[in-house]
Amino acid sequence: MTSAPDYKIAFTTFQNVVNNELVKTTETRRTICPSTEEPLWESPVTTQEDVDHAVSISKAAFPAWRKLSQDERAEYLVKFADAIEANTQEFIDLLGKEAGKPPQGGGFEMGLVMNLARETAKLRLKEEKPEDSDDRTAIVRYVPLGVGVGIVPWNFPMALGVGKLFPALLAGNTFIWKPSPYSPYSALKLAEVGAKVLPPGVFQALSGEDNLGPMLTAHPDVAKVSFTGSTETGKRVMAACATTLKRVTLELGGNDAAIVCDDVDIPNVAAKIAFLAFVHSGQICMNIKRIYVHEKIYDQFLDALVAVVKQFKTGDYTDAEAFFGPIQNSMQFDKLQDLYAQIDKQGWKTALGGALEKREGKGYFVTPTIIDNPPEESRIVVEEPFGPIVPVLKWSDDDDVINRANASKMGLGASVWATDVAHGRQIAEQLEAGSIWVNTHFEVAPHVPFGGHKHSGIGMDWGDVGLQGWCNPQAYWVKHSKL
Ligand code: NAD
Repeated sequence: MTSAPDYKIAFTTFQNVVNNELVKTTETRRTICPSTEEPLWESPVTTQEDVDHAVSISKAAFPAWRKLSQDERAEYLVKFADAIEANTQEFIDLLGKEAGKPPQGGGFEMGLVMNLARETAKLRLKEEKPEDSDDRTAIVRYVPLGVGVGIVPWNFPMALGVGKLFPALLAGNTFIWKPSPYSPYSALKLAEVGAKVLPPGVFQALSGEDNLGPMLTAHPDVAKVSFTGSTETGKRVMAACATTLKRVTLELGGNDAAIVCDDVDIPNVAAKIAFLAFVHSGQICMNIKRIYVHEKIYDQFLDALVAVVKQFKTGDYTDAEAFFGPIQNSMQFDKLQDLYAQIDKQGWKTALGGALEKREGKGYFVTPTIIDNPPEESRIVVEEPFGPIVPVLKWSDDDDVINRANASKMGLGASVWATDVAHGRQIAEQLEAGSIWVNTHFEVAPHVPFGGHKHSGIGMDWGDVGLQGWCNPQAYWVKHSKL
């Protein structure tokens, strides 16, 4: 009888993972715990030389990895998922410290990670046959690109990377993961877990300073960059990738509208929308960021929303009851402080919260805030706050609210809430966004593509579309006539 493999790793030191080995860098850096503002562990500072070396290893690992069948690669991915799962509690604890997630939030992210890992391993690239006649057969098949790079933000430091890594590997690419300098730790540990099951060089992780992303987007031997982050950085990534004609997928910011019709069950829908607007303290691309409520139910709905959000508890990574954790980093906290300062300056009316005072050395905690019917052109409506501050706005005419929802440059997601589902669908189908939802929001699945329209992105991750995004389509002709 063989004993179960030992997939446990220690969560005490954090190093780059190159060629399945832990590699020390000459310099190191530490990030700040968002709950305590104390420095966390040392982490690598990757140099250009380190990047060149890791890319050459990834490139060398590609031919053997692409030669495996999809089923063989999927077998590796299933083992990898088992190995991640064996370290679940350690990852939740780590997300608490590096990302500011209370246990509920860390558990939520780990749930996403495991679902993405397990379900992606079940997907397969399929060939298409646009012609299969006596004369000839034409096949469209999808062939891997080579070395893929995933550039990941700090808000979901594990799940957003796993949603790139697993499809990239399944499609036959090798992969280098670059975490955000604000949250480097969990990616390095995932790669360390990966080194227990994957062939060397197939998955590597490199962490460093702000200059690391540009080193990777400029590298001539990187074939594709899949980026998740802000729209501004996304534009820079695309420009850098143009020089070497890299393939790019961009998952960028959002300013999702929710349109609430006058026939909804108010307490039920207010509770759902409260969760979807405020979960992870508003630091999710797909949080509801503008709540349009029909004027007939506006006052009642606003009261119900406020009552629900008031019940959400704030706490740090030790607090199992906490819904709101801190903002993940000082840069984002400073941006929010500037936005909160506009409440008085612009005379916005608050239905909840308002003031934002920084407690010295006690973490980046922010007051949950609801703004009552601000002007449509105000910053709180037009910008993506990425924090727990949300505007509620009045509407009365379908066409008008559709225009207002579509007026944003962003187009990540949008939802309509209606008891009359046919009416809800009629509105939803006119919304300009990569995901549209009726009576839900933030509904995602590994077998369904996810991405943004307009300034919210280019291309999609996940599902068949996401898997194909890690490939070049190839037209493959076979002539049947004798030579
Ligand atoms: P960011 O754009 O500042 O950074 C994202 C990543 O890009 C980090 O790893 C960073 O180090 C790297 N980077 C920075 N400059 C770079 C450059 N010039 N070249 C290459 N890489 C570079 O974003 P952030 O603040 O970490 O994340 C918050 C933003 O991400 C929000 O706008 C949010 O809406 C968006 N987001 C989008 C999605 C989505 O799926 N659409 C998901 C989560 C977050």
